[in-house]
Amino acid sequence: MDEQPKSKITKSEEGWKKKLSSEQYSVLRQCGTEPAFTGNLLYNKKKGIYMCAACGNKLFSSNKKYDSGTGWPSFWNTEEKAVRIKPDRSHGMVRDEVICAKCGGHLGHMFDDGPKPTGKRFCVNSAALDFEEEGKKKEKSKIKLYFVL
Ligand code: FE
Repeated sequence: MDEQPKSKITKSEEGWKKKLSSEQYSVLRQCGTEPAFTGNLLYNKKKGIYMCAACGNKLFSSNKKYDSGTGWPSFWNTEEKAVRIKPDRSHGMVRDEVICAKCGGHLGHMFDDGPKPTGKRFCVNSAALDFEEEGKKKEKSKIKLYFVL
């Protein structure tokens, strides 16, 4: 049970550095935390799906997002098998680290003060997420199309 499945995507640190912005790299690959109340997805109330900014894994649905008042996007549940939880003993605390199950990227932490029905709070950095609005294509796809044309 404690045996964690291996991450399905592996890339060298140089590879991640090239793919990610410095802010995304600091959060996803170096377990950084964006300052509270600064993330671009904190107040996002649109319907859609939140994906890992590193690998595109579908992590959280907008219908499980809520305002925790903490300053980071918060969800009371994840998409099925989207994340892994790992004990984190850094900074003199014992916390549950939330990791993308596909690429192993650091997303944030999980706490036990969330709303029903799970009672969990998945506290996630905006920088670790991409958002795709329901019924709309991602911005990135549009850019690709532009270059194809
Ligand atoms: Fe990922």
